[in-house]
Amino acid sequence: MTATIIDGKSYAEGLRARIAGHVERLKADHGITPGLAVVIVGEDPASRVYVTNKARQTAEVGMHSEKYELAAEVPEAELLALIGRLNADPAIHGILVQMPVPDHIDPIRVIEAIAPEKDVDCFTPANVGKLTIGLPAPVSCTPLGCLMLLRDQLGTLSGLNAVIVGRSNLVGKPMAQLLLRENCTVTIAHSRTRDLPALLAQADIVVAAVGRPLMVKGEWLKPGATVIDVGINRVPAPEKGEGKTRLVGDVDYESALGIAGAITPVPGGVGPMTIACLLANTVTTASLINGLVPPS
Ligand code: NDP
Repeated sequence: MTATIIDGKSYAEGLRARIAGHVERLKADHGITPGLAVVIVGEDPASRVYVTNKARQTAEVGMHSEKYELAAEVPEAELLALIGRLNADPAIHGILVQMPVPDHIDPIRVIEAIAPEKDVDCFTPANVGKLTIGLPAPVSCTPLGCLMLLRDQLGTLSGLNAVIVGRSNLVGKPMAQLLLRENCTVTIAHSRTRDLPALLAQADIVVAAVGRPLMVKGEWLKPGATVIDVGINRVPAPEKGEGKTRLVGDVDYESALGIAGAITPVPGGVGPMTIACLLANTVTTASLINGLVPPS
């Protein structure tokens, strides 16, 4: 048996096309152009590329896009003042500050400065609370993208055993909340988990969000499991030439292919979904801010 490859890239393309339709209707019917501001502090080249991609895709679906690239040494007060201006700006419905921020800036103060109604990555305590108790709010982009791929692959998730490897605020914890909402039986594993292979042997769904290349081995999986690999790890690729690198996930893809029922590749799986969900969340916040029911 060879696993079905879950094509996140093409799912994300379809999602962006649907979002462009929603944007067009918001403009035509209500005179609203959803606006997303992306803020990055520092010169990290990978993060800058990521932010540039976000800004480009925002514009491509017809939204208003603003990009702020601040120097690594920008004072915290200046960043907070920018967030304050974006909070007050009626043309902006979503604010995303690319994490991590440099050490002299307190990420919690940054997160708490973002108006919850414009918090498109569900970072603020208010939105994390809403997610937990099931109130409408933007949902963290990466877990939302994973959920869409799971629903598309499996239909109903009710009653399935899900093991999430990783408990970060960005991925693991919100993923657990979303799968709980889908009536999965959810286990969260982390670095102190004693016997990860034993947990994974029971898992119908595996979401790996660890940041350790190829850590989850195929033989640990339950045959037929659906595997969502969130990890993005750059590793040396001497086969491509000296000094070359390639991206791999947290799952040992080659060994998983013969055991899993379905699996996301890296790249081309979860990554493209994250940006598409950021755009979807901006449509959601633009609708809610204007008293409209967001498109489903
Ligand atoms: P974090 O570093 O914040 O969290 C990693 C988690 O993995 C922690 O909970 C840690 O446990 C756990 N962990 C570490 N080692 C082990 C181990 N040996 N066994 C089990 N669990 C372990 O990472 P993120 O959640 O931010 O990101 C995870 C990965 O996903 C990264 O590769 C990142 O690049 C990628 N990512 C991809 C995105 C995309 O769009 N595709 C978006 C966001 C992230 P503990 O809490 O005990 O330390």
